[in-house]
Parts: sequence; structure tokens; C-alpha cells
Amino acid sequence: MSEDEFIEKNYNQWLTDFQELLSINSVRDDHLADTVHPYGPGPKAALKKMISFAIRDGFTRFGVIDNRAGYIEIGPKDARQTVGILIHVDVVPVDKELWNYEPFAGTIVDDRLYGRGSDDMKGSDMLSYYALKALKDRSSTFKNKVRLIIGTDEENDWQDMEAYFTAEGRPDLGFSPDGDFIVENAEKGIAHLDLISDSKILNPSNGQLLFLRAGKASNVVPGVARAAVKNVAFNRAQEIFQDFLKKEQLTGQIEEDSDGFKIILNGFSVHGSTPDEGRNAATYLALFLLNFDFDERTNRWLNFLAKTIHQDYFAEKLGIGITTPEMGKTTLNAGIVDLEINKTAKINLNLRYPIGFSGLKAVEIIENNFPWIKAYLRDDGLKPHLVPADDPVVTNLLSIYKQVTGKETHLNVSAGASFGRLMPRGVCYGTRFIGQQSTAHQIDEYFNLQNYQPAMRILIKSIEALANLD
Ligand SMILES: [Zn+2]
Repeated sequence: MSEDEFIEKNYNQWLTDFQELLSINSVRDDHLADTVHPYGPGPKAALKKMISFAIRDGFTRFGVIDNRAGYIEIGPKDARQTVGILIHVDVVPVDKELWNYEPFAGTIVDDRLYGRGSDDMKGSDMLSYYALKALKDRSSTFKNKVRLIIGTDEENDWQDMEAYFTAEGRPDLGFSPDGDFIVENAEKGIAHLDLISDSKILNPSNGQLLFLRAGKASNVVPGVARAAVKNVAFNRAQEIFQDFLKKEQLTGQIEEDSDGFKIILNGFSVHGSTPDEGRNAATYLALFLLNFDFDERTNRWLNFLAKTIHQDYFAEKLGIGITTPEMGKTTLNAGIVDLEINKTAKINLNLRYPIGFSGLKAVEIIENNFPWIKAYLRDDGLKPHLVPADDPVVTNLLSIYKQVTGKETHLNVSAGASFGRLMPRGVCYGTRFIGQQSTAHQIDEYFNLQNYQPAMRILIKSIEALANLD
């Protein structure tokens, strides 16, 4: 069967498989986690689904490691090098009430397949899987073995890949199709910080901010923020709020509550690696709340959120932003904001930085600039990564894109993190086409079904080329 015949004949089955994968809610759920389901039932079920496709389709070499990751393999067993195609089947949480389609169903409207994970990255998962199947069915011989490596915790801690590498070793070269068909040969370092401060009230007769909460994941710009306020006149607050919404062009609701009000503010949620494309509901809500006088500690905290963190996309006001010619600017996202009166207030920051900086430096600078904050480095495992532009992995992927589409693609420094960085000669590559907008982590996330044919052709040729590299 020719490549084109394979692609055409497999479309319907590919689509059915894709919809089945989308219908699994593979958001990590720590409340339901145990040793058999280390990230809860969803991510494990999605991994099992991928392996079940492999069994159905006659792959003979596959496995599951520690219930966290899996692989499907082709090529010579005793090859010196391994090509890794690194994917993930977990997804980020949804604000279901804001979606126009059922997030875990796989609804098709006008060539768009809607669902959480359709763009990040279950569409790429299914394309990569079928590309591997095309090469298996063709039974050509390769220099390298090829493994489709399936992670289940990419959206959180990446312990899935740690477990996999510990058991199976690290692939030498490859790519992760977790973005655009641009060869992202450089990725920034990423650190997560918790900024902790005391929110014990000193003067309870003032206005009181009972809580302010927003965000579920460090790497997502919060799209909704909620707060409750006591000892403040509702009518005046309502007036100020309507003016605020108009001025900032935002939406939200305010509701009278015993001696105060409850409030919901909608921002615009995007991936935390591009905070300047979103609108952080938490910092906007803090900006609104500056209109009222609260306790001293609450005011200090609101000021920090509304004046320092608000729109500080490049961490400049916070004092930790740097810029380098090879890797660009540091970016900053306040992904989780959690204040509750008389408890410990927390702001979780997601920081992406060029070579020459580190999470520890960020901690030092923040604690120095804001002595009332205690900064904790939660994770600084992702160091900046770079594959030289003349590496054959890079040059092959660039030329295959041109061969298939007739158009040029280019190199890029990624502000996001993909599994590509986990391999010495690993890049991020595919499967959105240049110019298509990413809907990753957004409301009404979708996959463009017209991408199926050209993306499949590029992936088959790319995997084949890497399988034959020295
Ligand atoms: Zn992803």
C-alpha cells in the first residue's frame, strides 16, 4: 500500500480512535490517585487506550512502566540508537460552564473536532501513532529503533518520563509533536515558585476580603477569579464594579452577600507560556479590589498582585526578567492565587527563563525585594535546552516540511516546554501548521481535521528519516 493509500484508507479509523481518546477525561486527579493510578484514573485510562490500539493493530513490542508511561516500538531491537517520539495523553482541567461543546465527547462542527486535549495533544498522539503504524505495516528496515513514548503527567510534574527513563533509558534523538510544524530547537528553563505570606487580620472592623481564589494549574493563565468581601456597602461596590468592567472590557457578576458581596470575574485563559496573550482574572480582580480599604496585610498583598504582578508578563516589575539574543525574554504567569482570611496566602508563579538565569536566583531576588514574602522553589528541573541548528535532526525536519508542503518552515525558541527537551538531540515539531492558532488549554479547544493528511505525510517521512540517521 502506498503512503497516500494508507493515509486515505485509515482516516475513518483514525477519527474514531481520536474521538475515543478525547472522550476519556484524562485530567490528573490526586484525590483518586493510588499506586495503580498514580495520577488518578483518567490519565491511566488514556494510556491503556493507546496500548489497546497497538494490540488491535498487531504491534508486538509495547509496554507500560510503573503505571505512569508506556511505549510502542518498531525497528531493530538491538539498534545502537533510539529515536523517541514523545507524546502525552493527559490534559489540563476545564471550566465546563464556559464551554460551548461537551469537553469530553469529540464533537465535530465544520471540520473542527472539539474537546479538551484535541489540540494539546491527543490529535498529535493519534497522528504519531498512525504514522508509526504506517511504517510498521510497510516493514522497511531502519538503522535505529523507534519508540512512541506515551506520558501521562506532562501537564504537571513530568514524573512519568522520569519513571520511563529510569526503567528504559533516554532516547538519543527525536521530537515531540506538541506544538507547531516549526522546529523548536531551543526551550527556555522553567521554574515554579510559591510566594507565601501571612494573611492574619489585624483589624477585623475594616472591610474584609474573606477570600480571593483563581487558577488550577501553574501553567495556565487563570480565566476565572472569585472573591468574597465583608463590611463593605454593596451598592457602592456594584457601581464601581460596573465601571470597572466597562473600562477593562471584562465580564463578571457581583451579588449581595451578608454585609458585603460575592464576586466572579472572567479574564481570558491561555497557556502560561504566553501570558501576554491572556488576561489573568486574579490580577484584574485584585486591581478592582484596590478600590476598597481592607486590613493592612490584605492591602499589601492586593497591591503586590495588582501593581507588581498585574501585566508583568516579562517579570520586569518583579525584578527577575532577563533577555538574551538566542533565547529572548523571561516570561511570568501567576497561575494559582489563593488567599483566605487568617490563613497563609499563596501565589504560584510559573517562570520561563533564558540561559543565564535560575529558579534559585529568582527566589533570592524576590525575597530581597519583598521581605514580607517567603519564596519557595517548587520545581526548577527544566533547564534551558538547545540543539544546534546544523544537527541533522533539525535540518531533516526543516527539509521534510518543505518537501511535503512546498513552503518553508523555520527554527524557534520555545517559551513552552515540550518533552522534546528530554532527549539530547530532541526538538518540538508539529502538528499545527504555521499560521494556525493554538487553542491549547483554552475554552472550546479544537483540532483542525484538514490537518490530517498533510500532517500524517510529514510525520511518516520525519520518523522514517530520523530512524535512518547516524
Ligand atoms: Zn502538550
